[in-house]
Amino acid sequence: MTIDDAPRDALRGGPRELLRWVATGAAVSRADLSRLSGLSPSTVSQRVEALISQGLLEEAGAGQSRGGRRPRQLAVPTGGAVVGAIDLGAHHARVGALDLSGRVVQARTLPVRIEDGPEAVLGALLNEVATLVDGDPAASRGGSATGALRGVGIGIPGPVQHSTGRIVSPSRMPGWNGFDVAAFCAGRVDVPVIVDNDANLMALGAHRTAHSELDHAVYIKAGTGIGSGVISSGRLHRGAQGSAGDISHCRVVADPAPPCTCGNAGCLEAVASGAALVTALREQGVPVSDLTGVIRLIDDGDRQATALARQAGRAVGEILAVVVNFFNPQVVAIGGRLADCEPLLASMRATLYERCLPLATQTLLIERVAAGQDLGITGAAHLVIDHVVAAA
Ligand SMILES: [Zn+2]
Repeated sequence: MTIDDAPRDALRGGPRELLRWVATGAAVSRADLSRLSGLSPSTVSQRVEALISQGLLEEAGAGQSRGGRRPRQLAVPTGGAVVGAIDLGAHHARVGALDLSGRVVQARTLPVRIEDGPEAVLGALLNEVATLVDGDPAASRGGSATGALRGVGIGIPGPVQHSTGRIVSPSRMPGWNGFDVAAFCAGRVDVPVIVDNDANLMALGAHRTAHSELDHAVYIKAGTGIGSGVISSGRLHRGAQGSAGDISHCRVVADPAPPCTCGNAGCLEAVASGAALVTALREQGVPVSDLTGVIRLIDDGDRQATALARQAGRAVGEILAVVVNFFNPQVVAIGGRLADCEPLLASMRATLYERCLPLATQTLLIERVAAGQDLGITGAAHLVIDHVVAAA
């Protein structure tokens, strides 16, 4: 074992990992868990009993016998809408009810006016979560393993102080600065509420569904804003306050350097975000109203829009090259609405290869995050599930 393996190894056989092995089908019995974790059968049994008593695992009939009594099969209770999730965007929110394996039971997209302020927006979205959970027949079986809401995970399109769940100096969210999302929501629902930024949720959702076997990953979310989430040693890396991965105000080479909402000039967000592309095109006299319009122009091969997309891709690549040289991930994946924009992706990739150490890019995977509007709520659900398991 190298020193680098230590953090992941220390988690080996923890309740969270036992649950994940069962959820992914890697283990179906206590014996499997003992073999995978290297823990003694009695320790595994003890942990499994604790998870069963918390309703996080269930026994689902008898498995294959290898001589003697047939072992009881373990399963994660599925189908019950027991985790609420909200992925708030600039104009829309995706709201969902998910089961304990992180599978979406019900979900819907709602229009949102961020400028209506946090109380109005979050109040309406929490009501929607309650409607989705109540609408699931399995969720009304109170007292059963799948019978009650376990928690709500919320993603915010701005910086969130992780320890408090408070929003700190967001761009384009007037009236939200300093708002204590966790406290507000805790006053309205009777279960734990976990708040994080939207890029972290996308990273967690994408990692758990597509790359759970990789320990080091960087996910870029490029939509109206631009951010990233970092997975280090298999876990979401938030840093001391929760701002790790926030690349939006890193400075890039741009002449002239456009002013940024933070008060500086030449920030990545002011050059490469969807909002920046809308502004830049308007300044060039192109009548475009939103990001959808920009993407349409790029798809149609519009000269000005394509040039701006290439410039944005170079800017993202510049920052990402620093991140890759510094952090040495196994995969860099880009998601969000700009991820399908081919000129942006091509120049990002070229810049990345040009600016990175050969050792850092030798086996580096550069991918699109698998398309899906549910990645954010899936990540939010995993935040809650991890919290519930840790509390158990
Ligand atoms: Zn800035």
